[in-house]
Amino acid sequence: MTVIWAEQALLPGGWAQDVAVRVEGARIASVAAGVPRPAGAQAVGLLLPAPANLHSHAFQRAIAGLTERRGPDPRDSFWTWRRQMYAFLDRMSPQDVQAVAAQVFVEMAEAGYAAVAEFHYLHHGPGGQPFADLAEMAGRIVAAAAETGLGLTLLPVLYMQGGCDGRALVAGQDRFGNTLDRFALLLEGAEAHAAALPGDTVVGVAPHSLRAVPPQALAAAAALRPDRPLHMHLAEQVAEVDEVQGALGARPVEWLLANADLDARWCLIHCTQMQRAETLALAATGAVAGLCPITESSLGDGIFDGVAYAGAGGRWGVGSDSNIRIAWSEELRTLEYSQRLRDRSRAALATADRSTGRALVEGAAAGGAQAAGRDAGRIEAGRLADLVALDTTHPDMEGRSGDTALDTFVFARDDRMVRHVWSAGRHIVQDGHHPARDRVQAAYRATMRRLMAG
Ligand code: ZN
Repeated sequence: MTVIWAEQALLPGGWAQDVAVRVEGARIASVAAGVPRPAGAQAVGLLLPAPANLHSHAFQRAIAGLTERRGPDPRDSFWTWRRQMYAFLDRMSPQDVQAVAAQVFVEMAEAGYAAVAEFHYLHHGPGGQPFADLAEMAGRIVAAAAETGLGLTLLPVLYMQGGCDGRALVAGQDRFGNTLDRFALLLEGAEAHAAALPGDTVVGVAPHSLRAVPPQALAAAAALRPDRPLHMHLAEQVAEVDEVQGALGARPVEWLLANADLDARWCLIHCTQMQRAETLALAATGAVAGLCPITESSLGDGIFDGVAYAGAGGRWGVGSDSNIRIAWSEELRTLEYSQRLRDRSRAALATADRSTGRALVEGAAAGGAQAAGRDAGRIEAGRLADLVALDTTHPDMEGRSGDTALDTFVFARDDRMVRHVWSAGRHIVQDGHHPARDRVQAAYRATMRRLMAG
């Protein structure tokens, strides 16, 4: 049993002082406020529910910083970036993917995340040759989670076609492709690998997008594991919306609202190309909007209408998607600043009784837990012990507490304030460091050295 004693903790009912949280195994056994520090307790500053990072393609970390030059196209765009990404990933072996994923997972933990929903689509060898174990690559993601202790929601991706018209996969996409039947086998293989991980692990399903999965296959994929999280890329780019409109006669959100039973199991990634009516309708479904503000900025995707969506009670969380940067506080800050820049406003996502920082931290914790299928997101007895403790001794924190402490963290400081993280009770960040950081980093360096040498 672990006992954590926090100067301040953000509980479901609000801020509390001198809080003892007892953790037994993976779960919170009890929470008591206004108590003296129990003997042997781990003392921390500010204790918060730790978020799940709801969208990651771990391998894309390998191209961070390599795609910031103009190509031959007159206008560099998402689509030129995607070509560069495809070209690079063709060199990656299973061992490379594991090394990069482990590095990504350590960074996520040190940024304050307790778990990740890995949207896993790099399945096969170069040229699309399946590995002897169809789920070899899924096994490498599982191995990276085992190495690092980060909670894992593994989302094997169904990717069937190169576009809405059913065209074949292009070079670079052949490593993702499966028929529905082969995908069902791959999913079983992924579950067999994941069985080696602790009990908080989840395996869901991820039909890639309306571009890559035809409508009837989407329904079949959703039915494969009806009680598990279902994630899908939604509406990231204008060209994508136009393509779906042309093929299906409706914009992606419009089409899904009319043809799929959107509910709390759904997490829709990238809601940057939506109309106001779609935003309000999506908010009413109980699905989670998966926002990736840093990547969406990097790729020039557009701006999510967070003000209207949150105002309508919509659920949302954040993910690091391309992993060009892994930074919890910066995802939240970028989300809020995108709203301010568009609307020329301030405190856009604050509510009458919660500051901006608090609304962001609580929103991402609740939505991230829902999207990842984790019984977490709140510090209360019975929930998974997904917890993050922030340092309160920095000069910027002098005299700050409660909501103003979170505002200082999100807007004036950053993830260097993260001191401790527990993932389902596993103490994966201790005094600001992941215990396996050096070993994982050495393997990552070796992999990157080889990949960069071409
Ligand atoms: Zn994505």
